[in-house]
Amino acid sequence: MKHFMVQYPAREAFRPYARFGGGIYSRCLALSKSLKGLRVIHINSTASGGGVAELLKNQIPLEKDLGLASRWLALREPKRFFFVTKKIHNLLQGQKGFLSDPEKNYYLSRLDEPGRELRKILNTPGKPTVVVLHDPQVLPLINFLFAASAVIVRLHIDLSSANKSALKFLRPFLEKADRVIISHRLYRPVWLDKNKTTISYPAINPFSDKNREIASGKISGLFKHFGIDETRPIATQISRFDPWKDPEGVIQAYYLAKKELPKLQLVLEGAMEAKDDPQAAAIYNQLTMEYKNDPDIFLHGGKTLSDLSYQTWINALQRRADVVIQKSLREGFGLTVTEALWKGKAVIGGNAAGIKVQIKNGRNGFIVKSPSECAKRMVQLINNPGLARTLGKSGKNIVRKNFLFNRLILDFLEIYTEISPTKV
Ligand code: UDP
Repeated sequence: MKHFMVQYPAREAFRPYARFGGGIYSRCLALSKSLKGLRVIHINSTASGGGVAELLKNQIPLEKDLGLASRWLALREPKRFFFVTKKIHNLLQGQKGFLSDPEKNYYLSRLDEPGRELRKILNTPGKPTVVVLHDPQVLPLINFLFAASAVIVRLHIDLSSANKSALKFLRPFLEKADRVIISHRLYRPVWLDKNKTTISYPAINPFSDKNREIASGKISGLFKHFGIDETRPIATQISRFDPWKDPEGVIQAYYLAKKELPKLQLVLEGAMEAKDDPQAAAIYNQLTMEYKNDPDIFLHGGKTLSDLSYQTWINALQRRADVVIQKSLREGFGLTVTEALWKGKAVIGGNAAGIKVQIKNGRNGFIVKSPSECAKRMVQLINNPGLARTLGKSGKNIVRKNFLFNRLILDFLEIYTEISPTKV
């Protein structure tokens, strides 16, 4: 395939999710029976790096295990395309500015070929298929679908203060969707039909290498590998190097907290894998230049481990850190928050809609509005491990109830069922 890469994530059984609530589990089995063999094509912009790829890696094998014929196509585009789509992403998250006509034309024309290829894949016009388009990078593909396809648009970004001109540009595509899924009620554009909009939160796989329990010896081995002193306090943020994730703000908070905790170390983990985020390298390089002389700041911008060890490293870092931070200024959801909560960590999150879905201030972590507030909470949590444990315990329960993959699968099966009578 020239314009898409077909992804084949590892097999995964749905059965183990039975332990997280028989109700959801049996409802999924019942719905999937009547959806057996349904063709579902998920399309997004990158096969690795970032939350969407993380979700699809898990969602597709589970849908397949339940009998659906689901598959995953990732876009194959040059860097220039992703510079434009990152600009669209930034505008939608609230940045000032606008898309120029050449940018719009380039973005749309680049999707002509993939669009034609998609038509060939769908090929048999009468054969019902559900196409799920994840995020604006692939949204214009909606114009290439046959009438027999039902279309879901899954927007993962924070649209709470979206730039109106960017939203207006995307409006004709969004209005063509049979269903638009967003992660927060605040993200629904006022003109988008409420009945066509569903709020569904992302979720994590508790059995994956990134999230399952790991032996403490393994954790120590990985910290040794990276030269990080496990006997001293560790704060971390695991995120793409992106302005909305506010890595600068995290570093400012670290320096303020270090005044009270001189032994504090900071790990900023941001493997630059996501090819749809060409901004990351510049931010990483600038931070590296600025802070290279501080031996207690660990800026990780690349993957130096095999994929399996890398997932285990993220797991180890979230488990061992004294404080996990996700100081985003905007955040569609932020899987990293749920990942850390699942590991019993109290998380310090930025004042962003997606994060506030997961962190209830003072109950399972803290919401902060500035580096100084962040620093205060870092010191408080590191000095009070008992408090951190209590908050962390409550966080794990919140995740068990709301943010595991059984719930996400149920949401999608319900939507597939609801949109099927008319079109599929
Ligand atoms: N992630 C990772 N390494 C990194 C940064 C992020 O493995 O250096 C993973 C992280 O564990 C999570 C996903 O990438 O599973 C990021 O998803 P999130 O929703 O937090 O943010 P996004 O990148 O989609 O904005």
